Amino acid sequence: MSFRSIEQLLRRNSKIKISQSIANGIHDQKEEQSVQTLRESLLASNQLPEKFDDHHVLLRFLRMRGFNIIKAKEMFLNMLKWREDCAVDTIAKDFKFEEFDALKRCYPHGFHGVDRFGRPLYIERIGSVDLSKLMQVTSIDRYIKYHISEQEKTLSLRYPACSLAAKKHISSTTAILDVKGLGMNNFSKAAREMFIEIQKIDSNYYPETLHQLYIINAGSGFRALWKVLKAFMEARTLKKIQVLGTNYLSTVLEAVEPSNLPEFLGGTCTCSATGGCLLQDKGPWTDAGIIRASKEPSARHVDPTCGRKRTLGMLLLEDNQVANQMSGNTHQKQANEQISGKIQELEDCAAQTKETLETLICKQKELAIHIEQLRKLVRDDVLPEKNTNIQTLK
Ligand SMILES: [Zn+2]
Repeated sequence: MSFRSIEQLLRRNSKIKISQSIANGIHDQKEEQSVQTLRESLLASNQLPEKFDDHHVLLRFLRMRGFNIIKAKEMFLNMLKWREDCAVDTIAKDFKFEEFDALKRCYPHGFHGVDRFGRPLYIERIGSVDLSKLMQVTSIDRYIKYHISEQEKTLSLRYPACSLAAKKHISSTTAILDVKGLGMNNFSKAAREMFIEIQKIDSNYYPETLHQLYIINAGSGFRALWKVLKAFMEARTLKKIQVLGTNYLSTVLEAVEPSNLPEFLGGTCTCSATGGCLLQDKGPWTDAGIIRASKEPSARHVDPTCGRKRTLGMLLLEDNQVANQMSGNTHQKQANEQISGKIQELEDCAAQTKETLETLICKQKELAIHIEQLRKLVRDDVLPEKNTNIQTLK
């Protein structure tokens, strides 16, 4: 079966769960309609700033509210109001977090490359936080501002760069939270308040930006604490969280290449040249070539974030282009990894198609049997009638 016919099949059968990567290129018709309705409603009341007039942004709010247009609109407007009240644009532009280096020393956290799909990978060793020191180097208020500025950076820089590097739409993050040593006793009231405040900001104003969170090294102390923290989290967010013990590695490696996972978590990366994995903001967003490419006008027509429909064929073509551009230079390995990833996606897609075809063939057989049974009923009913007619005629 050619890719073209797979694509046609996928488009025809809306019940097929298309692999996520391809669904990101081909907009679901129902989603497209919901986005359009929400967009028109916001435009009609003059409440859609240009920077948020984007298919994927509106889709995030719709998904978070189960495609209820009224609730999604309410959530979107609350986000706009919060941005204005907290001067989020000013934080994003002007906020200087001078205590960044000091904070990193007592609170190891940061972005570190990408997951196998190409999403930013965020790692936080919350179990190693020196809370008393943290409160000495910064305040809750400043830490929250720093968190907001990082969220803004992720939306405006990390996702577009990852989309360009992976040649598919990326708008969510994979995160690893190492809670080794963390429990009720060392998670103070101030830390809990900060956690809850950040949770509130993320789920209310940056919905659907978490793809998957792996909580690792969870001991009995953390599990007791988790019961309390869970109460403050949305059900949709909780579904994306896996709480794992010390045998987390195989699960995490399903999502992250060993080369992108720091050595202290069981991977192979040490970032020895730059002083350690969580000290530098490593990822496609720091790659000068990617940043330059994202600014070029030609990037627009291959930019997966511009919200245009892309067919599977286009996706494949773009992958070939990536391979061509990257071959022969230092990005060869990266290109190979991307191609391997794409092969995996297409294999998943083909497997799903096969499954659907088998279901359809089964259904067709059932229908054929049912039709035959109905025909038999008609024959059985009609025949005596004919006999009666024949007898009458005689
Ligand atoms: Zn590293």
